[in-house]
Amino acid sequence: KGKRAFIAGVADDNGYGWAIAKSLAAAGAEILVGTWVPALNIFETSLRRGKFDESRLLPNGSLMEITKVYPLDAVFDNPDDVPEDIKTNKRYAGSANWTVKEVAESVKQDFGSIDILVHSLANGPEVSKPLLETSRNGYLAALSASSYSYVSLLKHFIPLMNPGGSSISLTYIASERIIPGYGGGMSSAKAALESDTRVLAFEAGRKHKIRVNTISAGPLRSRAAKAIGFIDTMIEYSIANAPLQKELSADEVGNAAALLGITFGFGYALVPSYMSITVSTQWVLE
Ligand code: NAD
Repeated sequence: KGKRAFIAGVADDNGYGWAIAKSLAAAGAEILVGTWVPALNIFETSLRRGKFDESRLLPNGSLMEITKVYPLDAVFDNPDDVPEDIKTNKRYAGSANWTVKEVAESVKQDFGSIDILVHSLANGPEVSKPLLETSRNGYLAALSASSYSYVSLLKHFIPLMNPGGSSISLTYIASERIIPGYGGGMSSAKAALESDTRVLAFEAGRKHKIRVNTISAGPLRSRAAKAIGFIDTMIEYSIANAPLQKELSADEVGNAAALLGITFGFGYALVPSYMSITVSTQWVLE
């Protein structure tokens, strides 16, 4: 029986979320996506008008089908959390049921269960500021959107995940090493995400037989990365220092995600070229 995946954080065809969706689709999974509310309109319009058709092409010649696109804002857990200015914001008022709890409920209603949950989203409003110049609000916003959002997604989706299911997020090496320019508390947010992966893997593994992993991906010229402002430098650095001296393609990360989501059972680690996948079940055992 085919697996069903929910991928949070797809709003165009340039990011890791899209590439992961494609790899999972190529491996036979049914694809549902969660798209940030302010980006929903343009994403759905572009999809409908065929703007992504070329990049929907799968290795077997067919086009990836996205069964359903859900509006999502992962910084809000339920409707009570949503402040008035967002509720009445033109871009939000046009969509409904986009808090994490409501999205999980909608997916349950529509499909009953999922097997794979992917968190491919991050946001740090002050990412271009050094940590020393980051405000408390900017720091907390980065953690809310980029770290707690994963805790929240898992918490609300676990009840509809089939045992043996798998969950993946995307992290970045700035959590462990100093990467000047990855500011605004984003390095802190990735450190939290990685630490939480270990704890969540233990809790979700013991309680629900769900695997929780994170992929530490190399630099990719996505929309989010371009907003940081030094992505070209990151890519050049990578090419200069990586074992395979070439630009990382999003598909490589997509395939790693499919491996973790579909192929493997518990506990496996692999380091293909310059992208490391660290499987949390191993961290727990270390
Ligand atoms: P991307 O722009 O394709 O994806 C980020 C997505 O997050 C966007 O679709 C955006 O709409 C969404 N988003 C932002 N705030 C949201 C919210 N509150 N609720 C729901 N969605 C929200 O960029 P990407 O670089 O592919 O990012 C995906 C993941 O990969 C992120 O976790 C990022 O930190 C990670 N990552 C990226 C790189 C890189 O170089 N691009 C490297 C390592 C890790």
